[in-house]
Amino acid sequence: MLIQQLRKKLPQESVLTGKENTRPFECDGLSVYRQTPLAVVLPENIEQVKQVLKICKANNTPVVTRGAGTGLAGGAMPLSESIVLGLSKLNKIKSIDADKRLAVVEPGVRNIAISEAVAGFGLYYAPDPSSQIACTIGGNVAQNSGGVHCLKYGLTVHNVEAIKLLTIDGDELVLSRQDEGLGLLALMNGSEGLLGIIAEITVKLTPTPELARVVMAGFDSVRACANAVAEIIKAGIIPAGLEMMDGFAIEAAEGFAQVGYPLDAKALLLCELDGTQAQVAAELSQVLTILSTAATLKVSESEA
Ligand SMILES: Cc1cc2nc3c(=O)[nH]c(=O)nc-3n(C[C@H](O)[C@H](O)[C@H](O)COP(=O)(O)OP(=O)(O)OC[C@H]3O[C@@H](n4cnc5c(N)ncnc54)[C@H](O)[C@@H]3O)c2cc1C
Repeated sequence: MLIQQLRKKLPQESVLTGKENTRPFECDGLSVYRQTPLAVVLPENIEQVKQVLKICKANNTPVVTRGAGTGLAGGAMPLSESIVLGLSKLNKIKSIDADKRLAVVEPGVRNIAISEAVAGFGLYYAPDPSSQIACTIGGNVAQNSGGVHCLKYGLTVHNVEAIKLLTIDGDELVLSRQDEGLGLLALMNGSEGLLGIIAEITVKLTPTPELARVVMAGFDSVRACANAVAEIIKAGIIPAGLEMMDGFAIEAAEGFAQVGYPLDAKALLLCELDGTQAQVAAELSQVLTILSTAATLKVSESEA
């Protein structure tokens, strides 16, 4: 009954049933837990999403929303009697306003696709989860995702201007930073798919920095490395990125990528500085001064 109703409203290939077809959707990145759903629907537009929600509501059927399924918390894992609402086909960048530094995108747009689309304007979308090549902006909002550059440029919540939300009845709500400060908009960032379907997102765009430099410093203890982080922050510098690795991480990363990390270091700090030539030069000189007294191993500097 439910499946028939869904098939009436969606293209045939957008309703998947049976173990063979639904198995690819049985888990997200937390693959230790798996469950195939009743069916998977892959709508092609918002109107179809609304129809799915109305049908599921009328049949009292749970809906589990899914972006790219890269989540590590089991949020997109189906319930046995649920419908998985996969939004990967809603992948259009609807508009770009380079002057206002805003873009309106559908929820299935991949994180990195936004930066690729606006690169020609000298802009990019700042939050950069390591999964950015695959994860969707809808999933990013639902998880309030961050990445290495979030120390300086903020999490998803700081980079979303407005969202269009669908309730389980298929009704539209628009939550905007302009209308209501951050109240409900902030609540939706990190709502893990439990409060509604994020159907459209207006993201803020950031000017691409003129220059970026990364400093790498090795230490003979994790404590010395952590102290260097404290010194950098104490000096009033907010690096674009600050990553610390212990001995195990250095060995694993070097074994895989062979980029020349010093294997004799017990801890490694990667400090990225970005901005104008003058800003980077000023911060770089401060950071190098701090690190050259704290780091016991070679300090090196390179392009980001
Ligand atoms: C290799 C790897 C690296 C990662 N690195 C990072 C990282 O650096 N930082 C970080 O924060 N995370 C990271 N993650 C976790 C994950 O990529 C993020 O949480 C990402 O935001 C999930 O996006 P997704 O499209 O895959 O969402 P999914 O996994 O499909 O869904 C995640 C949650 O959001 C809900 N959801 C998805 N789309 C919508 C929507 N349109 N409306 C309402 N709810 C929705 C789902 O129901 C689920 O609860 C990483 C994961 C992997 C596998």
